[in-house]
Amino acid sequence: MLNLLIKYAKRILTLLIVAALFTTAGYCYEQRDQYIRYSIEEAVEVMNNRACEVIVRVGEYDNKPGKRIYLNDVDIRFKDIPTDIKIHSDAHGAYIHEYDINLKEGKALVESLRANGVNAQLQFTNLKTQDLNAAGRIANKSNPYLYVSIHHNYYDGNAQGYFAMYNPNDSNSKIVANRLSNAIANNGLVRQRENQQNTGYIGELNSLNKSTTGVLLELGFFSNGAELKNICSDNYVNYVSNKLADELTKILNEQYR
Ligand SMILES: [Zn+2]
Repeated sequence: MLNLLIKYAKRILTLLIVAALFTTAGYCYEQRDQYIRYSIEEAVEVMNNRACEVIVRVGEYDNKPGKRIYLNDVDIRFKDIPTDIKIHSDAHGAYIHEYDINLKEGKALVESLRANGVNAQLQFTNLKTQDLNAAGRIANKSNPYLYVSIHHNYYDGNAQGYFAMYNPNDSNSKIVANRLSNAIANNGLVRQRENQQNTGYIGELNSLNKSTTGVLLELGFFSNGAELKNICSDNYVNYVSNKLADELTKILNEQYR
């Protein structure tokens, strides 16, 4: 009888462990181009090995994609939106999420970095359970030298310009933020604004390893129709990704390699 009980107890325990694994899998973050899956709990642990040199994070999520802009609210036409930007629609009309613009820029930046011989990973997720702090903690698992988070801004129809946000707890973050901002100053489409200190409202930089320098880029205001057209354009995305990749490569060579 006791043997039988132990036998079933083992089976029940195995079932519970399997069930627990499936549950945590739902909270996994993906660096999808590499098909690496991490749980939030695991990601707090810091790996000693450096799995990549640069992580480019696509800000926001597929199904928690930040603010949206309706095309008919900003007088922008379908033909002004490149086909690689996803257009959604509901009863109010067609719209674009911040996430969709971030994704185009993030992918282009990783491609440019890899063309420069940099071991770069794209970090994006469609799971809305993630918070911004988790994004930083998950990056820690790969322990990159540099972490660049791509965002676009929303305020009103007149707001314009790009800037970088730096981590007040890391003096190198401010240096890298200035270098990246200056690297794209001559893009001719979106004007340069003064960089800002990363404050409480965006926690992802503050969650990074001490050995990782993080910068958050706000690459333009998508609430402004004219700027939206520019920041979605291949011209801007290609210019920005090439210049940022070249500057990041220089920083890697000077500071880390
Ligand atoms: Zn954002």
